[in-house]
Amino acid sequence: MTTDILVIGAGPAGMAAAVAAAASGREVTVLDDNPASGGQIWRGGSRKAPSPIARNWFRRFAQLPITTVLGAQVISGDASNRTIVAERLSSVEEIRFDSLILATGARELFLPFPGWTLPGVMGLGGIQALAKSGMPIAEKSVVLAGTGPLLLAVAAYFQKHGAKVTLIAEQADFGNIVRFGKSLWRHPSKIREAVALRSSLTGVPYRLGCWIEEARGRDRLESVRLRQRNRVWQLESDFAGIGYGLVPNSELAALLGCEITARCIAVNEFQQTSIDRVFAAGECTGIGGVDSALVQGRIAGYSAAGKSDQARALFRSRVHAARFAMHLNEAFRLRSELKGLPEVDTIVCRCEDIAYGRLKDFHSSRAAKLHTRCGMGPCGGRVCGSATEFLFGWSPDSVRPPILPARVASLIEQRITPEEAVTK
Ligand SMILES: Cc1cc2nc3c(=O)[nH]c(=O)nc-3n(C[C@H](O)[C@H](O)[C@H](O)COP(=O)(O)OP(=O)(O)OC[C@H]3O[C@@H](n4cnc5c(N)ncnc54)[C@H](O)[C@@H]3O)c2cc1C
Repeated sequence: MTTDILVIGAGPAGMAAAVAAAASGREVTVLDDNPASGGQIWRGGSRKAPSPIARNWFRRFAQLPITTVLGAQVISGDASNRTIVAERLSSVEEIRFDSLILATGARELFLPFPGWTLPGVMGLGGIQALAKSGMPIAEKSVVLAGTGPLLLAVAAYFQKHGAKVTLIAEQADFGNIVRFGKSLWRHPSKIREAVALRSSLTGVPYRLGCWIEEARGRDRLESVRLRQRNRVWQLESDFAGIGYGLVPNSELAALLGCEITARCIAVNEFQQTSIDRVFAAGECTGIGGVDSALVQGRIAGYSAAGKSDQARALFRSRVHAARFAMHLNEAFRLRSELKGLPEVDTIVCRCEDIAYGRLKDFHSSRAAKLHTRCGMGPCGGRVCGSATEFLFGWSPDSVRPPILPARVASLIEQRITPEEAVTK
């Protein structure tokens, strides 16, 4: 398959990029591993679009001649040959492009603590996605813990769908939240959103400077132990949704040779990466929320289509969105006490069953990987890699293809060399 502009990721950034590029008269293909476009926030496609803004973007996306390839995951690529390799059902396909826009989004950051692997303890976005896909939550008790506005959004969803949200535990302190609130005067729509969310949660306790220290249960979650300053207490719960923020999906960019800074894809003012005609937009370039993803996506789309004036006209909106993202990231910075939660036998690498005690004396992820297989399971270090970065300050190891688990037949067909695949 050949296309003029290839967009990887059909979340808000990818959709906005595709719309801008297609409206500029270019041939555009968008590829995503989900069965529907919309990314994380607008998961489920146009029929489930949660807001007028989302509906508007789905409408514009559908009106333009954009080719969408869904249910296909990119496993490899080569920037010099201008190709990427995607696996879809039982086939594997090479797609050639003239320009590439990476809009691969972000994933959840999981931090280990005793009991975090018990059934019933899940990521905040993950538990919301399961509930949206039909997991029964009515009458179930749920504790939501971690950090950031996503806690309120998920709590509101659970409350609306009949779950009993017994507590929202926000790890950020009161002072941070007050400073963040004051910084919102430039973003009245965010104030309206926050007020609406909070008022839909009347009666649900929202504790600041509070976090889960331990999840307990025999075969599945039964209760959590919480801490707020010197107070420690136990709360029975059917589910715990825990979200300590997001980690940019920058592995594909790293594989292609793009410069990566602090896990984010480095881009210039036109959203171009360090590689010519390879652009990036949205949360893979830094965590910033949906408004930031949309404006960056539009800039990337116009830039890839050679419409630099249209791209430049959006620079001010991007500054506005970036300011919000900066305040957000400052206010919800993770507290150091969370590094002290794992005990010697707390699992850190779930795929390979490697406990904290076996890792703590290593000095790098490479050494830990060679001695223990930490990060060598099916997730390829996507979960434990960011956890060990937070816990021990290890920088991520190099990226090799396939960047996601792939069938051996796909590797053979695409001649992804045994050395590369086996070392992984
Ligand atoms: C689990 C989760 C839940 C979230 N829930 C909310 C919420 O309820 N409310 C809210 O305001 N914000 C939420 N966010 C944050 C929100 O996703 C962002 O603010 C915004 O959607 C980012 O848009 P994006 O286009 O950059 O990335 P995304 O929306 O993440 O889109 C990226 C897309 O790229 C695809 N992709 C990545 N790698 C590949 C690959 N190799 N091959 C093929 N496809 C690939 C992904 O599947 C995804 O569909 C959530 C984030 C996460 C991670």
